[in-house]
Amino acid sequence: MSILIKNSIIVTQDRERRIIEGDVYIEDDKIVEIGNINIEADYVIKNKIVLPGLINMHTHLPMTLLRGYGDDLPLEEWLTTRIWPIEAKLKAEHIAAGTKLAFIEMISTGTTCCNDMYFFEDVIANEAKKMGIRCYAGFSIIDFDTPEMKREKLIPECEKFLKRWDNDELIKPVVAPHSTYACSPETLEKTSELSKKYRAFIHIHCSETRHEVYDVLKKYGKRPLEQIKEYGLLNEKTMLAHCGWITKEEVREIAKAKACVIHNPVSNMKLATGGYTPLPELMEANATITLGTDGAASNNKLDMFETMKFTALIHKHHRWDASIVKAQEVLDMATIDAANFLKLNAGSIEVGKKADIICIDKNMPNLIPRHDIISHLVYSASGYNVSDTIINGKLIMHERKFLNIDVEKVYEMVEKMKEDLLNIS
Ligand SMILES: [Zn+2]
Repeated sequence: MSILIKNSIIVTQDRERRIIEGDVYIEDDKIVEIGNINIEADYVIKNKIVLPGLINMHTHLPMTLLRGYGDDLPLEEWLTTRIWPIEAKLKAEHIAAGTKLAFIEMISTGTTCCNDMYFFEDVIANEAKKMGIRCYAGFSIIDFDTPEMKREKLIPECEKFLKRWDNDELIKPVVAPHSTYACSPETLEKTSELSKKYRAFIHIHCSETRHEVYDVLKKYGKRPLEQIKEYGLLNEKTMLAHCGWITKEEVREIAKAKACVIHNPVSNMKLATGGYTPLPELMEANATITLGTDGAASNNKLDMFETMKFTALIHKHHRWDASIVKAQEVLDMATIDAANFLKLNAGSIEVGKKADIICIDKNMPNLIPRHDIISHLVYSASGYNVSDTIINGKLIMHERKFLNIDVEKVYEMVEKMKEDLLNIS
């Protein structure tokens, strides 16, 4: 497939963070040329703001099925009375439907790559392949039976999963020990061995709530991050979701280990976790910060534009300082910083990079006048301003229409699966 994007404002996110006016030409999976280009192409797109696709670094895709199911409850009550009982009933067909819906929502709001963690991860990886979206698929490891399998099968099945998805163009298998409160030291050690053996990324929840920190401290005499380090899971492959309750010393540990923090401000605020991921300190320490929505049950959207805006706002408000966590820094977290951490040849618009690109109509009321494009992307834009989404050189959504999927059919299926799930006794 070849795509020519004409007469556009290109937010390159290259080293100099240049914004240029011109055209982008894509052939197969790569960006081939940037400038003033006159060439025939399978698709021609015109008059856009063009930017790298956004990378959602923490999500639980099938939880779209539970969007709006039990809101406005305290976290513990929400988990124990709503989420966990219904999750126990999940079957592969529910997962497939919820995942399809998540991908439609992500692609239509400008996400081209996601980092997931859930059960039935093979089903999720297969759906990602069908949809054509890039997915780091985290095989969840937990010390309980999952709706998919008995706990003792999790480690051996995770190993098979890592082998099965090795070398795929769009899917990267990830080891995902749930957290230090849901995984024993022995389990953590086993996941560390797996990640080392297969050079796989590690995706883990860390210090999301104060309750969690004190629970883990009481049980093991160590805080969650110390547990993660103790059992060999703190390194340049580690992706730590939340970190809302970490200390200054832990900020230094994370930076030193070259691990990455995934900030999920919308989910944290909705669940009232109270902690503020210390972004100014993490930035000061040169730690990698990336952004996520978390699952749709606790957000309730998968719109990374909204997450970018909340990221900038929450810290300004908390520190009484409007000059911190700037729009450009936030856009970096959602694009080039995440791509660099994942060793993904994307995250910017440069010749030779993978074509993971999104387009926004230039003429939208909330994006006029164009004083500052970066400001608009973070503070003014919504995911629903995205008109075209290109992943790995393939045009998946064009002028807001999906080229290869009947979205109405997916919505119908999700409603059916929702009913089915509620009726399982
Ligand atoms: Zn999560």
